[in-house]
This record gives sequence, structure tokens and C-alpha cells, in this order.
Amino acid sequence: MTLLAVDDITVSYGRLTALRGVTLKIAEGEVLFVTGPNGAGKSTLLNAIAGVVPAGSGSITMDGANVTGASPEDIARRGFSLVPEGRNVFGALSIEENLKVGTGMRADRHKIAGDLDSVYAEFPMLADRRHTAAGMLSGGQQQMLVIGRALMTAPRIMAIDEPSLGLAPKIIDQVYEILVRLRAQRKLTLLIVEQSSTRAMMTGGRMILIRGGRIVLEGAAADMIKDERLKQAYFGFG
Ligand code: ATP
Repeated sequence: MTLLAVDDITVSYGRLTALRGVTLKIAEGEVLFVTGPNGAGKSTLLNAIAGVVPAGSGSITMDGANVTGASPEDIARRGFSLVPEGRNVFGALSIEENLKVGTGMRADRHKIAGDLDSVYAEFPMLADRRHTAAGMLSGGQQQMLVIGRALMTAPRIMAIDEPSLGLAPKIIDQVYEILVRLRAQRKLTLLIVEQSSTRAMMTGGRMILIRGGRIVLEGAAADMIKDERLKQAYFGFG
């Protein structure tokens, strides 16, 4: 079943057109890996789906409902959770306070304590340090925290913008192991943006390559990684 459908969307920032007619579908439980060079429009795609930036044309459908133009809160309530680039933790707040930040909008408030327990079960490191200020955590730990925080909104789709940015390879592997496990255990649908495609092997699923605001290549991640055109894309293909 298609959980998310993006149909021919265009996004502009003033005179700059960042997305030009992007169309994609994500089925429930699927992983879609979005890659492409700097400035290709990857973050814009996530932000447009999340309702953070408006689509100038085209439509976005979530679970069969047209959500084009809906507010970020409305889209989040429908089960879309965005983990933006840059790991924005509230450094002066504790881990637990960070985890609870986004839960105010939830209608099912009685489930919050249980969800907190399950995030702690997923990330024992966060449980052990629940009263520690988030600013004291390493980059990798902060990435776990923002993923945990996104889980607190009980999402069906999690979109993550550049989870590996600035992390050591071993830590990146840990982050991906968690994402793969979350997908398997919670049937979580994943939309992962990375400038580098090397970790797509760990996720399986499909991959799209964006360049100049357009999808220029798409297919199974395992095939795409071996495709010479993927490498060429960073040097002018498309
Ligand atoms: P990166 O890997 O560098 O984050 P990206 O593929 O995510 O790149 P976007 O951040 O979506 O690309 O940017 C696409 C284009 O839109 C770029 O030319 C960028 O400069 C521009 N852009 C992005 N956000 C804004 C904004 N808020 N205002 C104006 N231009 C923007």
C-alpha cells in the first residue's frame, strides 16, 4: 500500500527553483534512500513533504489523503516525522526533556509514558543518562537522541536528513543498524537523505538520485550503488 505519494511537485525559493517536477511513491514499510550532490534539492524534498516549505505546484498524498499545503503540525499528526539536518537538540535540557518536547500535540497522551519506555529500551544509553543535559552528548549520541525524539511522536514514516553528517564510520554503522532494526520491528517506513550513498547498502530498499532539483536516476539501492552513472552524477551527469 502506498503510504506517501509525491506527484510532480515544484518548490521555489524566490527566483531559485529547488525542485522541478519530482514524483515518487513510498510503500508502507519501505526504505527510500535519497542521494545527490550538494544543493541538489534533497532537504527541500523532505521539507516540502513535511509542510515546512510550500510546494508551488503538484500534490502530496499521505495514506490516501491530500495533504498538499497542510501545516507541519497536521502532517506530523498524520504520522510523518522529520529529523532535520544538524541534530538540533536542546543542549541545556535533559535527555528526557528533549524526548518529550514534541509530544504536546499528541491526542493520545496516555501513551506517552509507554513510548518513552520503548525509546529507552531501544536506546539504553539514553535511559542511563536521562537526566543529563543533551549538550553533554557526543555527535553520535545526539543523533540517537533526535531519532528517539522523532519516535516519541509515534510516526509511521520517519524522514531523516543526513544522519551520518560529521560522524565517525563506526558510529554511522551504529545509527544505520538502529534504523534497520526500527524498520523491522515497528514496520517504520524510512526516507533517508544522504549526500553519500555508501550506507544505502545497509538499508536495502530503493534509491533515488536527485540532481538540479530533478530525479535523474532511480532503482533498487543495491543496483544503483554499482551504477557508474551514480558516480558520474556528482561530476555532471544528467
Ligand atoms: P545539501 O546536501 O547541501 O543540504 P540539498 O540537496 O539538501 O543540499 P537543498 O538544501 O534542498 O539541497 O537546496 C536546494 C537549493 O535550494 C540550493 O540551491 C540551496 O541553496 C537552495 N535553498 C535551500 N534552502 C533555501 C532557502 N531557505 N532559501 C533560499 N534558497 C534555499
